[in-house]
Amino acid sequence: MTEQTSKRFAHKKVLVTGASQGIGEDVAMHFASEGAQVAINGRKAEKLEPLLNKLPKPVSGEHLIVAGDMSVEEDVDRVMKETLDGFDGLDVLICNAGMQIECPSDEISLKDFNMVMAVNVSGVVLCARAALKYWRGKDLPGNIIVNSSVHQQIPKPHYLGYSASKGAVGNIVRTLALEYARFDIRVNAVAPGAIVTPINDAWVKDPEKYEATAKHIPMKRPGECREISDAIAFLASKESSYITGQTLFVDGGLTLYADFEQNWSS
Ligand code: NAD
Repeated sequence: MTEQTSKRFAHKKVLVTGASQGIGEDVAMHFASEGAQVAINGRKAEKLEPLLNKLPKPVSGEHLIVAGDMSVEEDVDRVMKETLDGFDGLDVLICNAGMQIECPSDEISLKDFNMVMAVNVSGVVLCARAALKYWRGKDLPGNIIVNSSVHQQIPKPHYLGYSASKGAVGNIVRTLALEYARFDIRVNAVAPGAIVTPINDAWVKDPEKYEATAKHIPMKRPGECREISDAIAFLASKESSYITGQTLFVDGGLTLYADFEQNWSS
């Protein structure tokens, strides 16, 4: 998280899904440090309590824990209701919860494929549905930001569900953006490259694998969580007030065809 001196999000109410660790935790810290009231989601309330205790105090109101599984419709509906009731409103919805399962595609089980799609796609759709219904019902502006991935664009062999889900996210964002733009409801995504988070411990904590990963990235290093939080905060802020339907790639150049860094084709 970047040290924040401004309170850009004072009196703003923000929901972050999948906030118990990694990027989601950093995003929650970022918005709280800029003055927002933050509702933090994860599957288990007890895993969110340490974060609740360290969030900087909001300028007004209190932060909230809203536990629930983003792959389960009843849970998402309840989480959204608890957030809207608890905050008496919502300004920014950040759909960050996500997962992946590794498997060769000729052996993939439908159960695993559907599980990844349920969290990464249905979870986004269900959260967005509730937020949009709320904003439209009160004729309020709104802002949705989805945490996608460079695999929205780059294929990820052995992670078919993940590739399919993030590809879907790109078009969900564009479709919702077009449908709701005239109501001053903006919908965007960030697409992180390789970021230092607990799910990447296998290469982050192994110097050889870390070097091998860094070599593939044009900027020759993985990203930090705060570099994703900064981009999400930008998309939530007035500074991006005319931007909708976009995916902002935050990837150190990973989507620039790094293999073409040195000319080999002519
Ligand atoms: P992470 O595993 O550290 O965090 C994922 C969060 O989502 C956790 O808090 C987890 O509890 C939560 N979550 C998972 N399933 C859930 C469910 N069913 N209901 C509620 N919460 C659930 O991963 P991360 O790296 O911080 O990833 C966050 C987002 O960023 C994901 O959408 C991921 O696809 C995306 N992303 C990460 C990277 C990276 O390199 N770390 C790169 C590209 C995209």
